[in-house]
Amino acid sequence: MRYSVEIFPPKSSADNKEVVDLSVPFLSDGASFISLTYGAGGSSRNRSRSAVLAMALAGIPTAAHITAASASKEDVDHSLAIWLNTGITRFVVLRGDNGAPGAPFEAHPDGYASSIELIERIAELGAKEISVACYPNGHPDHQGGDSDLDYLKRKADAGATEAITQFFFNAEDYFRFRDRCADARVGLNIVPGILPIFNFTKVAQFATKCGEPIPQWLTDRFAGLDAQPDVRQQVAVASAASLIDKLRDADVPRVHIYSCNDSELTRSIGRLISFPAEKQNAA
Ligand code: FAD
Repeated sequence: MRYSVEIFPPKSSADNKEVVDLSVPFLSDGASFISLTYGAGGSSRNRSRSAVLAMALAGIPTAAHITAASASKEDVDHSLAIWLNTGITRFVVLRGDNGAPGAPFEAHPDGYASSIELIERIAELGAKEISVACYPNGHPDHQGGDSDLDYLKRKADAGATEAITQFFFNAEDYFRFRDRCADARVGLNIVPGILPIFNFTKVAQFATKCGEPIPQWLTDRFAGLDAQPDVRQQVAVASAASLIDKLRDADVPRVHIYSCNDSELTRSIGRLISFPAEKQNAA
């Protein structure tokens, strides 16, 4: 099984070395590439722009995230031009959000109207690998029934080459979604997104914002560990490892780790992926 790692840009462009230093050990542990998220506001977009550039110039295989929300086409095209000129050919292409969680999406008056329009544009500009997002447990804007699969199929038709899932905690949620995609002939590899529990309270808050269910067993597993970081860390590694083992047993070829820039936790999980226990032959 292979894996890719997602990281955030640093707090200031002056600190771009931080993302380079963060990425290098992931790659030596076996990560295939590092993806860097794109901020929602103007200043965080600038930080993403320059961090991607610093990573590419340092020779790190980089995927640049890009969103359509709250930006004119000119602004988005500016980021794309900089990156394509530096040799970046891998992108994670998203619609993004432009309001409070749950608020309806409204395209920028001069912007790309949807993820589909942006995917088409990036494909036209010559990107080689275009990852898009998908949601095994549904996105808050899900329009019911199989509309999410129809929409994912439209992303594939627009030029997407794979879909990375929103995080989930039960492997069965992923398997059910992968089967639905196969039945609907979506035609994209569905790469599981794994969110290690670096901090249960923060992960639970984020999951609620994204409409992602937190299973009771996971809440119980982390209960009372707030003041015990070492135990918490071990439980987090074991939880991610058992989810990944189930995916590996089902021949999933790659996972994408949402590192939240937690180097230690991500490296522990990455090593377990790169060096799995050999399977014992049945006697
Ligand atoms: P879309 O897929 O375009 O829309 C979301 C959902 O709404 C669809 O899945 C579908 O169910 C429904 N929908 C929308 N339009 C239609 C339609 N016309 N017909 C039918 N159904 C429709 N955010 C950032 O700001 N920066 C990042 O770097 C970033 N990286 C991410 C990486 C991954 C792997 C994931 C999963 C999410 C990421 N996000 C990021 C969050 C993302 O921007 C939000 O989840 C956003 O709300 C949706 O973006 P999208 O591209 O999935 O939207």
